[in-house]
Formats: sequence, C-alpha cells, structure tokens
Amino acid sequence: MDLERIAGARFDALILGGGITGVATAHRLARLGWSPLLIEPRDLAWGTSSRSSRLIHGGLRYLAHGELRLVRRALAERRALARIAPHLVRPTPMLLPLGRGEPWRWRTFAPAGVVAYDLLAGRRGWPRGRTIGRDEAETLVPGLRLGDERRVRVFYDGVTDDRRLTLVTAMAAREAGAQVVGRCELLGLEATEHGARARLRDLVSGQTLDVVVRSVVNATGPWVDRVRQRYGATRRGRLVRPSRGSHLAIPWRIDAAMLVPHPRDGRVGFFVPTATGMIVGTTDVADEGDPDAVRPSPDEIAYLEELADDGIPGMAGRERTGWAGLRPLAESPGPTNALSRAARYVMESVEGIPFLSIVGGKLTLHRVMARDAVRRLRPHLGTPARPARPDTAHLPGGDLATLAGLEARLRATGLDATQARWMVSRYGSQAEAVLGDEPPAPLGRGSIPLACEVGWAVREEGARTLSDVLLRWRLPELALDAEDETRIARAALTLLAHRLGLGSARAERERARWERERRAVWGGTGDRAAATR
Ligand SMILES: Cc1cc2nc3c(=O)[nH]c(=O)nc-3n(C[C@H](O)[C@H](O)[C@H](O)COP(=O)(O)OP(=O)(O)OC[C@H]3O[C@@H](n4cnc5c(N)ncnc54)[C@H](O)[C@@H]3O)c2cc1C
Repeated sequence: MDLERIAGARFDALILGGGITGVATAHRLARLGWSPLLIEPRDLAWGTSSRSSRLIHGGLRYLAHGELRLVRRALAERRALARIAPHLVRPTPMLLPLGRGEPWRWRTFAPAGVVAYDLLAGRRGWPRGRTIGRDEAETLVPGLRLGDERRVRVFYDGVTDDRRLTLVTAMAAREAGAQVVGRCELLGLEATEHGARARLRDLVSGQTLDVVVRSVVNATGPWVDRVRQRYGATRRGRLVRPSRGSHLAIPWRIDAAMLVPHPRDGRVGFFVPTATGMIVGTTDVADEGDPDAVRPSPDEIAYLEELADDGIPGMAGRERTGWAGLRPLAESPGPTNALSRAARYVMESVEGIPFLSIVGGKLTLHRVMARDAVRRLRPHLGTPARPARPDTAHLPGGDLATLAGLEARLRATGLDATQARWMVSRYGSQAEAVLGDEPPAPLGRGSIPLACEVGWAVREEGARTLSDVLLRWRLPELALDAEDETRIARAALTLLAHRLGLGSARAERERARWERERRAVWGGTGDRAAATR
C-alpha cells in the first residue's frame, strides 16, 4: 500500500506485529467497524507464525496435561477454520504407529487419548479415528517403520500452511477495512490531546510519517517484552518466556501425518505433509536470544535427523533444510515444556493511551485470541460501529466446493500435478485468478514456483520486496540446488523490478535483503541444515 496516503490519519488501534495474532486482531477490529492500522517491520508472518508445526489441532499432548478447556476450544476452532479456509486447513489422517519400542506411557495413553480427543471434538463435521491395515499405512507414508501391530491407529487433525493462513487473514482484514503494512516500524509515541502521535518509518523508502492512534496492541509474540521496553511500558517483570522449536523440511511426499516418540527420549515428534514434501519436528529449548536471529543448534538438527530416520528409514540420505521459531509462552515458573499454551493479555498505559500486550496462545486459537483482545480494548474504544456477527465468512480462496475438483480443473487446463497441488494449496478458489490467461511459466528448472505469482503477491497480498515474495514460497524448502534457487530469485527480481519500476541500485538492495533474510531463517545457500546463532 501507499504509506503516504495514511499520513496524518487517525486510527482506533495501532497493531504492532504481522503474525497470526496481529492480523486476526486487525481483522476482528475492522469487522466491528473500528479502524486498525497494523505494521510489521519484516514480511507478514516473519516470526513464529511461519515456523510452527503447521497443525490446527487441540493437541493430544495438552490433553495428557489435562488442559481440557484449551483442547475443546481448539477443536471447535479446527472445525470452523476447515470450513472457512478448506484449502488451508485440511483434515489429515495422523498415523500412530505403536509397538516400535516406544515408552509404555505413550503406548497406553495414545489409543485412549485419541478416543477422548474424538469425543471432545463432538460428532459433527470431522472424520473420526479408525484403524487401517499396514499396507494402507505404507501407501500413505512410504518408507515408514511400523511396529508389531497388525493394524495401525489413525485419527484426524488439521494440517495447514501457517504462513498462508496469516497472509489470507491479513487479506481478509484489508477487505474489512484495516490498513496492513509490511516493512514499516514505529519510531515512537507521543501523547497529544486526542490520542498519541505515532511516528512511523517506511523501511523500504526510508520516509517517516505521523499518524494519530487511540490505542496500541502489542502482538509481537517473542518480541513482546523488547517492544514494551522500547516504547516505554513500565510494568515490572517480563511477560514472555520464549522457547525454541526447530523443524526440518525434507522433499519426501507423504499423504498422512504421523506421531512418533523420539527413540532417544520418548518425546513425541511430528511428521507433517506439505505441498512439496514434509516437515519433521520439533524441539523445546529455552532461548533468550534475539528473536530475529533464531536458528536451530547442531544438537537439535542431529536430534531431528535421528527422529526422521527412525520414523521413515526409507528416506535416509534425503536433503534436509532446518529452521527454528520461538514459542511466545506466557511467563510462569517451571520448564517451558510444562507451561500452559493459554493466552494472556496485559493492559498498560503508554503516552496516555491503552497499550495491550498479548502473549501465549496457539496458531489454532488465533480467532479466539483476537476476540479476547478486542474485548479488553472495547471499554477504551467505545461502541463498535457494527454488531459482532458470527465469524463464518470464508477467508480469501476458501469458497470452493472440493479441493480435488479444483485440482482436476487446473490439471485440465495444462498444469502438471505438482503445479495443481501447489496452486490449490496456496490460493484455493483464487488459483485461477492468480494463473490468469497465460500458460503457467515456471521460474526455475522445476515446475514451481510460477511467474504469475509475483504479480499476485504484489497486487493482492501486499508484498513490497523481493524477500517478501521468496519468503512466501519458502524457497529454501523446495530442495533446489544453489544454481536453480539463484535463477528463481533472479527471475522473480526481474518481474518485480518491472512491476514496481525499480532501478538497478534498488534491485541490488533487494537481492541483498533476500540473502540476509534467507540466512537468518535457513542459513546461507549451500549450508548444511545445521547452523547456530
Ligand atoms: C516450533 C513451534 C511449533 C508450533 N506448532 C504449532 C502448531 O502446530 N499449532 C499451533 O496451533 N501452534 C503452534 N505453535 C504456536 C504458534 O506458532 C504461535 O503461537 C503463533 O504463531 C504466535 O503468533 P504471534 O502472531 O503471536 O507471534 P509471531 O508470529 O512471532 O508474530 C510477531 C510479529 O511481530 C513482529 N515484530 C517484532 N518487533 C516488532 C515491532 N517493533 N513492531 C511491529 N512488529 C514487530 C515480528 O516480526 C513478527 O512477525 C508452534 C510454535 C513453535 C515455535
């Protein structure tokens, strides 16, 4: 968006943070008729919201911890999200191979746990657990190691693309009237008679501008305490206890997810299918470092490789790409793996206006968190212009009859299977609009990503830089060789430069920004999966 257009404007809320919590809060406020402005210094979903295990779930583990209320709420959200964004939240079989030498606690808890899980989910709108034969399990997850059971237990949970879910929620927020701006930072707040003056800096052009805001929502996840400090919140003590979790992406196609206890310590690991392969995770390590530079340690990479090779020995030797994210857990005593995932909201006052910080929570519960956050802001904002309606409208791309039908239609127009799967999983019913009338033009040696996606990202999804476009493809997770990755980045830059009228100096800055941000998340091109801060 054109930042100059908002100079001098007044907003009911300035939302800091373009992760799932921030965009969902912007969406909720805008739907109720308030005027939110959301700013994010990097790309949307730069933080934890692109680094989760990509499950929309109640969490069997939280059931074991007795967090029944949290699990029940999350299961209700799972059903609702699969209805409003079926391309992004898919009921997916989760295999529970047992009899592989796992700890007895898991062996006894897991079968009973999935029955309780299904009961908590209620009867409607979600497939129930069952058992399948070994052959079917081997077809769903080629190369897996089964135990001594004749049949394999399966239950269903939601699998998503966290980054896309964040992006389409931001699109929905914009459609509802929110301003959502990436690559923009808050320089400071200053009290005025009718709110606070917020000085913003556009991190692409370097320009500064002022707006007036009536409240601030600090939805910066693991950055919450740094942000509170920076802008002058004075409450003592910290709110967030960050815990690092890492994953590996492996180009090995699976059609079901899988839960497998780690052979070393029995901690349950996830194998989750993606549009181009799978991810394996995760770890749980206390981490007080800079959230912008969070990377898996070599120990974590080795731990995840062990898990991957034990779960699916058939894919040993496949290339792996690793990254890490920080869970923004609400501060309380105890080890991070025992801390509740429930959200916490803390209201302070900065420069005479309410300053609400949100910590904890889960990707799955983002709409619940947004609702709870807005409820806390309401006494400060007054009566909303529109009544609260049930949140049942489709997210962009979500209004489709069946995924398989759309995939078949795209195949009939000449897309290969990989392209059709990629387009449907990313854009849902908007896939045909993204493709336009031109034949699909891959940017690299493989059949994805496609040239038409660059224009769409800029036009419809608010991408402002080369890095925004490439981060959204998760380019390093496509298991390309360095030469092919460079070719795709160069081709995308050419298209972007043409569309935005960029000169050669700016194009060079774009390339450098992408290399910096790629290194920060995945390490440099050609690095092994492992790298430390
Ligand atoms: C390893 C791991 C696995 C997980 N798996 C799951 C799962 O399977 N299912 C599930 O439901 N949940 C999962 N979670 C939890 C879930 O991912 C998080 O709860 C959620 O993504 C947090 O979103 P957020 O918007 O609060 O924070 P973030 O996504 O981190 O967003 C905060 C944003 O604030 C921005 N920011 C920083 N400083 C500023 C500033 N000064 N001004 C403005 N913006 C700023 C950052 O750039 C960032 O984009 C997982 C978490 C981890 C770490």
